[in-house]
Amino acid sequence: MTENKTDNNRTGLSFEVFPPKKDEEFDNAYQIMQELGKLNPDFISCTYGAGGSRASKTIEIASYIQKELHLNSIAHITCVGFTRDMLQQNCDALKSAGINHVLALRGDRPQTMTDEQFNNREFYYAADLVHYLKEHTNLQIAGACYPEKHYEAPDFEEDLRHLKEKVDAGVSSLISQMFFDNNYFYHFLDKAKALGINVPVHAGIMPITTAKQLGTTVSLSGSSVPKELADLIATYGDDKEDMRKAGVDYAVRQIHDLKDHGVDGIHIYSMNRVKSTREICSMI
Ligand code: FAD
Repeated sequence: MTENKTDNNRTGLSFEVFPPKKDEEFDNAYQIMQELGKLNPDFISCTYGAGGSRASKTIEIASYIQKELHLNSIAHITCVGFTRDMLQQNCDALKSAGINHVLALRGDRPQTMTDEQFNNREFYYAADLVHYLKEHTNLQIAGACYPEKHYEAPDFEEDLRHLKEKVDAGVSSLISQMFFDNNYFYHFLDKAKALGINVPVHAGIMPITTAKQLGTTVSLSGSSVPKELADLIATYGDDKEDMRKAGVDYAVRQIHDLKDHGVDGIHIYSMNRVKSTREICSMI
């Protein structure tokens, strides 16, 4: 799989999508995938709703991307919601669907799950999932990383040490949490390299196209919001189209700077939004 610039000396491009919440929305989702596919990404990854019963929906979308669009797809899987048996069944289903790449994650506690259920999960950390997948499957495995540290980690250094363990367990590339200040990403790359983490790292870029996004997705991610971005929202937040354009422009400037710094790949959290993703791609 072409997944980073070291393969052909260019910055990789990838998108993240999510499966539809309802079965009747699948036709529309396939159209979205077709449009995103036309932008020629190196891969498209599809999220998994931890703890839900819809793991098969992630596989359906990822399989469509792989088999019908002939693009590399990555299916997300989480420790949360997966027993050992379920994981093995899921891996078998991935194999039948022609998907050979997963993003192994811990997942967060869904609202429907008690603390006890969450804490009693069979695979505790993403690294435990990676160990299992390495031993029992031939899947290629990506992992998540956090330029501003994971929200539960006591400090950046400890988070990075655990990341190193995860990579050593068998992760061959990393996709970063979204960030809005590239300096956090460059600092993270330096520290990761110093610790011997040498796998490609895809920079997570979330275009902020509505003011509401800051209150939901972004606050959940714990990513800091620089003054420039906060000012954009204060200025354009009330006008839907102006806000969208300002958000696209901010993402484009972030990406230009990342490419100038020679990062391995840009991973756009597309949120299944074709128009903004297409505009970003046309400008980078
Ligand atoms: P881990 O790598 O397990 O780390 C979690 C925490 O545990 C960190 O604080 C780490 O420092 C700590 N830790 C790790 N190992 C140890 C150890 N041995 N001892 C003590 N502490 C340890 N969630 C979903 O539910 N579905 C998705 O599809 C999804 N997609 C995502 C895609 C990307 C690119 C990213 C960045 C996140 C995604 N998430 C998704 C969210 C993710 O599940 C959460 O951020 C989760 O809280 C952490 O997952 P992780 O795999 O990074 O966990």
